[in-house]
Amino acid sequence: MTQMPQTDRPSGHARTLAVVNQKGGVGKTTTAINLGTALAAVGRSVLIVDLDPQGNASTGLGIDLNQRDRNTYHVLVGTVKGEEAIVATKIPRLDIMPSSVELSGSELELIELPTPQMRLKKALLALPAKYDYVLIDCPPSLNLVTVNAMAAADAVLVPLQCEFFALEGLSQLLKTIERVRVSLNPDLEIQGIVLTMFDRRNRLSEQVADDVRSHMGSKVYETVIPRNVRVSEAPSHGSPALLYDYRCAGSQAYIRLAGELLRRERRRAMAA
Ligand code: ADP
Ligand code: MG
Repeated sequence: MTQMPQTDRPSGHARTLAVVNQKGGVGKTTTAINLGTALAAVGRSVLIVDLDPQGNASTGLGIDLNQRDRNTYHVLVGTVKGEEAIVATKIPRLDIMPSSVELSGSELELIELPTPQMRLKKALLALPAKYDYVLIDCPPSLNLVTVNAMAAADAVLVPLQCEFFALEGLSQLLKTIERVRVSLNPDLEIQGIVLTMFDRRNRLSEQVADDVRSHMGSKVYETVIPRNVRVSEAPSHGSPALLYDYRCAGSQAYIRLAGELLRRERRRAMAA
């Protein structure tokens, strides 16, 4: 008897999602950390790949500087294997490949190396088949490092802050995704767009949310992440919001987002 796949990950290979938006401060890192934590909490094995030279995901997960000696910079330039740069976090089933400031100058080095856009993909493919999800936290630009993330990913997840220029930024990002599809990764999907730092007392927030939904339709997750002080306090404690204050509105929203993501993944796996 053939069985319907019950899992969101039937193939045995990690689903790799690039958390991307060329704007800084829109909630990429917060989303990578808290979504990663929520997925780990429901039993998935998760790796966060920190590709931002600022290392906010590494700091936000409590990774000391001395645990970042081997990091994504070394993995991209090829002096360290991906597996060797992974460290465990205090959250069960959640690991991280930390970053380093050296990443900020890496473009000039990368373009001298073979297949400069595919270096992360190669490194991730060589990892042991341990992870269900790999979440790549991208830097705030559409540079070669971000292109590496999009080339390595099965899908992108786009955090969008509900502010006036959100749609302009999004259309630029969609063009880049299309270019990556044509030249490097024809199967790259959009897992979804998540509205972040939503303030329901602000009419502009509502209006931007409506605009994004009317342009992007069902690509936009139903879950909206509210602006929430507890979420912004958590990183200074080296903890995801989900650990710092599980009950706060922001944590609860990220738990719902993880549920929505898993439902999309399951639907996708059934259709395949
Ligand atoms: P990015 O990675 O896109 O630069 P961050 O995730 O670092 O963005 O978020 C930018 C800032 O906003 C950080 O200080 C973060 O703590 C804060 N922040 C993110 N999401 C929320 C939220 N839902 N509520 C309040 N503050 C938030
Ligand atoms: Mg960030």
